[in-house]
Amino acid sequence: MGFLEPVAGMIDFEALEACVSRAEGGDRGAGVEARWALESLCTRRTRWQWIIHGETENYRLGVVRYYCGKGKFVKAKRYATCGRGDTAYASETGAAVKVKPMCCGYRLCPRWSRRYGRVALRRVNGHLAGAPHGAIDHIVLTQKVIDGEPLPVTRERFEKKWKRVYRAIRGQGMRSALVTYHVKRTRGEGWHYHAHVVVEWGAGIDAEVACLFVNKVWSVAVTSAGELSHPVFYRHVCEPGEAITALKGDGQGEFWSESKDGVAQCLQYCVRDVLQGCENWVEGVDTEDLTAEFAGSVDGAKLHRLYGEWRHDVENTDGVEEEEEEPGAGGTATEAEKEKARKKEKDGGLWVKLGSMDSVLLQACSGVTAMCEFLESLALSFFNRSAVFRRLSAVRRTFGG
Ligand SMILES: [Zn+2]
Repeated sequence: MGFLEPVAGMIDFEALEACVSRAEGGDRGAGVEARWALESLCTRRTRWQWIIHGETENYRLGVVRYYCGKGKFVKAKRYATCGRGDTAYASETGAAVKVKPMCCGYRLCPRWSRRYGRVALRRVNGHLAGAPHGAIDHIVLTQKVIDGEPLPVTRERFEKKWKRVYRAIRGQGMRSALVTYHVKRTRGEGWHYHAHVVVEWGAGIDAEVACLFVNKVWSVAVTSAGELSHPVFYRHVCEPGEAITALKGDGQGEFWSESKDGVAQCLQYCVRDVLQGCENWVEGVDTEDLTAEFAGSVDGAKLHRLYGEWRHDVENTDGVEEEEEEPGAGGTATEAEKEKARKKEKDGGLWVKLGSMDSVLLQACSGVTAMCEFLESLALSFFNRSAVFRRLSAVRRTFGG
């Protein structure tokens, strides 16, 4: 197991890779070794991994065990190393910076689950940026948490009620909606399964009246399911208005900047909070059984749904600068995407590769000016109040950035 001993902080990834593929091939001895190695790799998260994954170490370790237990060692390795390959780039003049992500591509990942919402984010933003919009509300539908109830049962219980309420939302004059499901573990109890609905009402609809009606329908659905009535939370996001051009091209994952326009900013946070991913859900997912239950239910589940006009992509999406995914990193890049990435690489030959994000942080920590400047530009160009940004700022502060 020598390849995991930190020799001056280094890990022999080639040896690890070889061990993982032997394990995946069914070699039992290699399986034991790989599992041990991946678990300890996971508990030794890097600084950058902490920035992008947050305080989810226990949970991530649980997921690594879950994958290993199923004999999916390659998956486990990708998951454990997610973010270690993120690369920093700066334009030749230093005026622009970017981070090229190397994600695992799994929904159980705090980081990828956030990135996974990008399609929905791009769609919604594309519509709001391209044409006048109706009034928008943010509605949260919750149900009672039942002690010890298995997650699939919790989910089914919710779905039944949701069907009724969705009909009501449509009936009230919905133009479009984004619905996303959040699954939180209430410590020592059950699953707090709930849905966030961002709804855009059609022209001439009184949003207040529509929301009150939705509230009523939900209460009826809840009480007729024999549960105690549960209030619906709703918040008026904005009035009908002209196209919000500030949202154009705001489709990135971790790195995005807060708009100066009040309405645009409110929408940015609302939609992003809704699409937050599992980082904030998994605090209580801390035993092997719970992790397996959570993983079995969330891995492969459709967590976001778009309705109405938002289901369709707006045609004019130019100006949408998309982060490139490292092809093959998560096994998710199609041939067309790879081609696009190659073309971009050719066109934008002006980008200078600075190295992995962890080495940038390490060098910045020991005072290398270029690296400090890179991090400063990153923070200036993508200012926002997300957890990722807060952690990036916290790390920068530790070395006076
Ligand atoms: Zn990941």
